[in-house]
Amino acid sequence: MLSDIWGGSARRCPGMRKPGQIGMKQLRNNVIRAGLEALYYSGAHRLLRPLLAGVGTVFMLHHVRPPRGSAFQPNRHLEITPDFLRATLAHVRDLGIDVVSLDEMHRRLKDQDFERRFACFTFDDGYRDNRDFALPVMREFGAPFTVYVTSDFASWDGKLWWIALERLIARAETIDTTIDGINVKLECHDAAAKSAAFTTLHGILREQPSDVEINRIVSDLCRRHGVDDGTIARELCMSWQELQVFATDPLVTIGAHTLSHCNLAKCSPDAAKHEMAASRGIIEAKLDKPAAHLAYPYGDKAAAATPEFAMARKLGFKTAVTTRPGMLFAENASHITALPRLSLNGNYQSERLLPVLTSGAATAVWNGFRRVDAA
Ligand SMILES: [Zn+2]
Repeated sequence: MLSDIWGGSARRCPGMRKPGQIGMKQLRNNVIRAGLEALYYSGAHRLLRPLLAGVGTVFMLHHVRPPRGSAFQPNRHLEITPDFLRATLAHVRDLGIDVVSLDEMHRRLKDQDFERRFACFTFDDGYRDNRDFALPVMREFGAPFTVYVTSDFASWDGKLWWIALERLIARAETIDTTIDGINVKLECHDAAAKSAAFTTLHGILREQPSDVEINRIVSDLCRRHGVDDGTIARELCMSWQELQVFATDPLVTIGAHTLSHCNLAKCSPDAAKHEMAASRGIIEAKLDKPAAHLAYPYGDKAAAATPEFAMARKLGFKTAVTTRPGMLFAENASHITALPRLSLNGNYQSERLLPVLTSGAATAVWNGFRRVDAA
């Protein structure tokens, strides 16, 4: 789960637009797409590539699976198709970029070995579709990759609240509840209304003091709307037993993604330390492999900043990644537990625009042409 350059819950609802009713998210998606198209047609990305593409890229992915037909898919930014993954790998190879493991990325950054550009592929949360749909494509290219496992998801007792929220809104006609003493009443009669309701609730939930409150609110709504949020991890995530087999693939690195998928910046320092260190310990005990790399859950500035970066470093993680958008530059070697990534966003699966993405132009515009943002 993330928020990224494209917006945490950015999405489109084809066919649901009515004149004068283009929502802000729709508008933002249109603006982003227009920006990407403008960069594409101007050819500016080709001129900017040597300047902005940096020395490497860490691609960020979540689900990889065939497309679904539903008009209401508020988490669609978190999934791409196997075909788009294949197209991305082919594009990267065409550019002469090495696809490397995180250990090799770490070595190149430490040694300042930038003779060749490199890319890493990383997948958050530990979804089973990473094995069923991504692994075969990665094998076609002999491309190494990392899956960041949330321990509680692999134990099948964690909560993927953003998926539960999608499911309960899909079922609901209206949502009528009280959050923080305020009555929240939302129409959910069609896909456009459901999308608006998702955006509103998602915003309210991300403002909660911790993931405990988020899970309590979402579980309560699930009960009222007949959704079983207790079985989502089992349905979607690899168990420890499955991971034991998956992790033996020579292309696969397993990284840590905390115990409970909490917002670390909202945890006490002791709790945050435990979330990071214990998740690493469990992975190493269960899979008998080092788990030297970390991804911060949510990963945006509200979830991972200077204290978390310092903690990850102190705990001895070799690298840690955020969801802040950006390419890697030589200077990132000094901020190795605050690395940016480049999201492969399900709302923008256009092969034509891949050169714009990998040129670094889009993320540079987003970052105001600042190369490193690690505070
Ligand atoms: Zn996540």
